[in-house]
Amino acid sequence: ARVLKAECYEVFNPKMRSEAVRQFQLEAELRRAIERQEFVLYYQPIIALQTRQLAGFEALVRWQHPQRGLISPAEFIGPAEETGLIVPLGLWILRQACQQMYDWHQAFPQLGPLIISVNLSPRQFNQSDLTQQVAQVLADCHLESCSLKLELTESTAMENVSSTIEQLLKLKALNLKLSLDDFGTGYSSLSYLHHFPTDTLKVDRSFVNRMVETQGDSDIVGTIIALGHKLGMDVIAEGVETEEQCVQLQTFGCQYGQGYLFSKPLPAHTAAAFIAQQVTQ
Ligand code: C2E
Ligand code: CA
Ligand code: CA
Ligand code: CA
Repeated sequence: ARVLKAECYEVFNPKMRSEAVRQFQLEAELRRAIERQEFVLYYQPIIALQTRQLAGFEALVRWQHPQRGLISPAEFIGPAEETGLIVPLGLWILRQACQQMYDWHQAFPQLGPLIISVNLSPRQFNQSDLTQQVAQVLADCHLESCSLKLELTESTAMENVSSTIEQLLKLKALNLKLSLDDFGTGYSSLSYLHHFPTDTLKVDRSFVNRMVETQGDSDIVGTIIALGHKLGMDVIAEGVETEEQCVQLQTFGCQYGQGYLFSKPLPAHTAAAFIAQQVTQ
């Protein structure tokens, strides 16, 4: 409940303003918000299903609006993408997430190497100097590159397969990890999948949601997990909300899960407490 309240979704009041004006205002607000550093990262634990140990976190951005409170990324990532503001914002997110993970590695050296996952939007992914930018951030933050995982959605990956492969190979050369996000919802990438140098597949939440009730979805989840493993990738199930789903995922051999069953996305200090609790277990 602490994360996002229902009213957060009705941020921009729907008076009879034209869509163009609304967009324009949102863009101006986003610019100001970047300058004023009104964005904040939440961290959702990713759990190894067998041991229930913490494996890492996914960084998820929110907008801490001075008047309107916490705003969901669903409200502003799209407009930020359209206006190109996602590029500076995305770079800030990457830097913030890497700094945070470096701090946690220092604070909890007894834990295995936790991985921080960061989302890349299409616009960011298509930047020609992305690899240099990422390398710079890793160097500035003193974070080992193998502690960073970049998430790209399957649909973004499929926009232009040959340039995707080229970009992924450049990133991979930094020795970081790559993940295909929301897998199963994009245009089928089955025939290209083995060309992507990705380490992880994330099964989209929509399949996991319906898995226990619907045989078809259960079959899809099982098949995606088997496919990922066949191609030498780890598989993370998104949106795990119930013990039943968790058990079924384990029978499919899925190694990792993320979802409300384990934890909602947490602000940094609560995420640190989550790590500390793992250490003392
Ligand atoms: P995503 O990358 O698929 O992130 C997972 C979303 O699922 C998150 O929503 C998370 O809070 C939500 N979630 C996790 N577990 C559960 C669960 O058990 N049940 C349900 N119902 N939901 C769960 P969030 O944080 O609202 O983010 C939504 C989307 O916004 C993300 O989807 C991602 O596409 C985008 N986004 C978030 N942060 C960033 C960012 O830093 N950069 C970019 N480019 N996009 C971001
Ligand atoms: Ca993601
Ligand atoms: Ca996802
Ligand atoms: Ca998703």
